[in-house]
Amino acid sequence: MIGVGASRNISQKRYNTLNSFMKEYFGEKVYKVSVDGGFTCPVRDGTKGWRGCIFCNIKSFTPPYAERARSVKDQILEGIENVKKFRKARKYVVYFQPYTNTYADVEKLRKLYNEALEAHPDIVGIFIGTRPDCLSYEIIDLLDELNRKTFLVVELGLQSSNNRTLELIKRGHTVEDYIDATKKLHERNIRTLPHIIIGLPGDTEQDYINGARLISDLGVFAVKIHPLHVVKFTELELWYRKGEYKPLEISEYVEYVGLFLENLSPRIYIARITGEAPDKFLVAPEWCKNKFKVMQEIDLYLEKKNIYQGASYESQRIVNIYQ
Ligand code: SF4
Repeated sequence: MIGVGASRNISQKRYNTLNSFMKEYFGEKVYKVSVDGGFTCPVRDGTKGWRGCIFCNIKSFTPPYAERARSVKDQILEGIENVKKFRKARKYVVYFQPYTNTYADVEKLRKLYNEALEAHPDIVGIFIGTRPDCLSYEIIDLLDELNRKTFLVVELGLQSSNNRTLELIKRGHTVEDYIDATKKLHERNIRTLPHIIIGLPGDTEQDYINGARLISDLGVFAVKIHPLHVVKFTELELWYRKGEYKPLEISEYVEYVGLFLENLSPRIYIARITGEAPDKFLVAPEWCKNKFKVMQEIDLYLEKKNIYQGASYESQRIVNIYQ
C-alpha cells in the first residue's frame, strides 16, 4: 500500500472513497480538471491496432473544455474557471485523461507535465491515465521525478483480470503487462490506480474476484470501477445491435460490485464505483444515465447483504493465480 493508511471509518459508506481520503490529506475538497495532452494510443495508431478498444469512443468521456487544439495551460485555466462558477474551490488536481498519456517521448512528456503543474498556483497534484504497455524505464524515471514534486497518481487501464477477455475487447496488452508495470511503479513509490470494467463480454464472477484480489495483493492506491456502456460509433455498438452483446441489468451490476468490494483490500480507495456517458452517446444500458441512483442501489445492496469492503479479503491465504 502506498500513501497514508486507510481507515474503514473514513466515510459513512461501506467502502473507502478516494474523495474522503483527498479531503483529509489536503485539508479540503480537491477538484479535478481534465486535460487532453494531444496523445493517441497504440491500439489506434496502427502499432497494435487501428480501431481502439471495442467500447471506446473518446468523445463520450472528455469534457468540452479539454480540447487538444488548445494548450494544456489554457485548458486547465478554463477548467478551473468552470469549477469556480459553481463551487468554492481552492485546490485542484490535473487529470491527463483521454488516450494514453505516457505515449510520447520523454522530453515532450516532461514539458507537458511541467506545464500542467505550473499552470495555476492552486494545483496540488497530477493524475495520469495510461496503459500498462506504455511505461518504459525512461518514462518511469520521469514519473519518479514528478512524484517527488507533487501528488502523483498513475491510472492504469487493466479493465479485466482475464487475458481471454482482454484479447476479445482488443486491448492489446495482457494481465502480466499490467502486473509488471504496477510493480515497476510501486518500486518508485508511485501511487497507482487501475481501471476495472464490470460487464465485459466473457467475464465471470470469478474474474471479478480475481481482479479484486490481484490489485489488492499488488497494493494499489485506489481503483475505478465502472459498468460497460455501449456508446455510439464503437465496435461494441455493432455487437449490441446484432444481438451479440447483452448489457448487464442494474441488479447484476450492483451484485458484482458487491462481490468485487468484498474481495478488495480495505486499504484501497474507491475513486469511482459507477460511470455515465452523455445522453447523446449512450446506447445502452438505460440505467447508466443516472449514476446517483446506481450509487444508491449499491449502498442499499451492501447494507442488505451486510457487505463491507475487504470482508472476504485475506491476503495471507491468497495463492498467486498468475504463476
Ligand atoms: S480505452 Fe484507452 S487504450 Fe483503448 S482505445 Fe480508448 S483511449 Fe485507447
